[in-house]
Amino acid sequence: MKIVNFLYKNRQAWGAVAGERIKIMEGCPYEGIKFSGETVDFRKCKLLAPANPGKIVLVGLNYRDHAKELSMKIPKEPVIFLKPATALSNPGGRVVYPKGVKRLDYEAELAVVIKRKTKNVSEAKSLKYILGYTCLNDITARDLQTRDGQWTRAKSFDGFAPLGPWVETDIDCSDIKVQLYLNGKLKQNSSTKNFIFSLQQIISFISNIMTLLPGDVISTGTPSGVGPMRPGDTIEVKIEGVGTLENYVCASRLR
Ligand code: MG
Repeated sequence: MKIVNFLYKNRQAWGAVAGERIKIMEGCPYEGIKFSGETVDFRKCKLLAPANPGKIVLVGLNYRDHAKELSMKIPKEPVIFLKPATALSNPGGRVVYPKGVKRLDYEAELAVVIKRKTKNVSEAKSLKYILGYTCLNDITARDLQTRDGQWTRAKSFDGFAPLGPWVETDIDCSDIKVQLYLNGKLKQNSSTKNFIFSLQQIISFISNIMTLLPGDVISTGTPSGVGPMRPGDTIEVKIEGVGTLENYVCASRLR
């Protein structure tokens, strides 16, 4: 099932894609899915980021190919960081290139949305706590990341976490392609089989640190090939069996 969060005639709702229609749900999908019986035309809906996170938790280095590219040692445990919920942006939306930033990078990532309270879960049970899978672009002001030494400013500007286009509930993510296209050109091309830590390890690890709540997002790190974007660029995160998240970079109006 592809779960969408959308606007239709200025009304927000959740639903499931059914061909060219969307079957509308009652309330949020986190605590169990109930359909209202109504459907709407998919083409007349504006998709929203398919989560309502209190927090977005990301893994810093999780692909063997990316560690090799950066000449970094394989970490012994996941390195995690947070983005604020205000970094979220919608599929198809614009990402503002912040004033003063010298280098703005894309990072294609597989993300999951949490569906119920997740605290101290085992790896074996971890996948029962997720609603499903989506695409995230971990946009990073690389010059600020290097300058600051810690990552909060570099990762947290408004709009730095495009998410979507929907949540796919039915895939096995152990070996799926994760790709990034910049203006139609392939820039990142790897598979989740290159993960250093499995999704199960990541969910269990994070849940033993902080309680994850319905709507929270976990992003699983980016493969090799990260690089810069400029205003006017189109960026697509394409994940096999999940979908394509497309966004545009625009210049800041602040001067
Ligand atoms: Mg990242």
